[in-house]
Amino acid sequence: MISLKSKREIQIMADAGAILKEVFREVGPAVKPGITTDDIDRIAERVIRKLGGEPAFKGYRGFPKTACISVNEEVVHGIPGSRRLHEGDLISFDIGVKLKGYFADSARSWAVGKVSQTVERLIATAKESLFEGLKGYQPGSRIGDLSERIQRSIESQGFGIVREYVGHGIGRAIHEDPQVPNFGKAGHGAKIQPGLVIAIEPMVTEGHHAVETLADGWTVVTRDRKWASHYEDTIAFTEEGFMNLTGGENA
Ligand code: MG
Ligand code: MG
Repeated sequence: MISLKSKREIQIMADAGAILKEVFREVGPAVKPGITTDDIDRIAERVIRKLGGEPAFKGYRGFPKTACISVNEEVVHGIPGSRRLHEGDLISFDIGVKLKGYFADSARSWAVGKVSQTVERLIATAKESLFEGLKGYQPGSRIGDLSERIQRSIESQGFGIVREYVGHGIGRAIHEDPQVPNFGKAGHGAKIQPGLVIAIEPMVTEGHHAVETLADGWTVVTRDRKWASHYEDTIAFTEEGFMNLTGGENA
């Protein structure tokens, strides 16, 4: 069931989104060779709590940390730990914030130092595809109108699109209806109405799109161990159009 949000609810989610923007702003300069993913996780948790939010993923189905941090061939749901970043790594952060009973959800992929041109393109493609998808929105659009555009944007770069994990509605729960796939057909899926809030989150693979979960029960990696990128924003649709609740200058 899709729950539409009032202006007041969307404002709270925008406030949660503002916390996420600040998290990425503060984490950014720390992402350097030598830092551990745990160090980054601690920064994220400190910023969220300082600003009055709660880390949404900590304790979610037993996830032990604030941020999902996935490196190189890891796609999503990586657990922060003692791993140190190296020059040339690709790091993806996925972070959720809860504020006054509502959630915002956002992910970014960044290069650690200098990376290959292919990795730069892999990172850029995830972001570009989200905004390409949104360009397909007009009043009366369906989710599939966005999905098809996201898919076309990624495949035009020759990259793969993860199928097992998709975007989602968001509000009082971190995952709500409808599902928001990064592939699909225009004219299909739920109708986009004012008050709909969704997290759009393309996951892009350099090689084949098949993924598997490691023995830790969380970390999702590409089956061919080629690298992957991830980008996510929380988007609210309104009478006037849409608002990106988690996009910012560090986007
Ligand atoms: Mg997320
Ligand atoms: Mg999400």
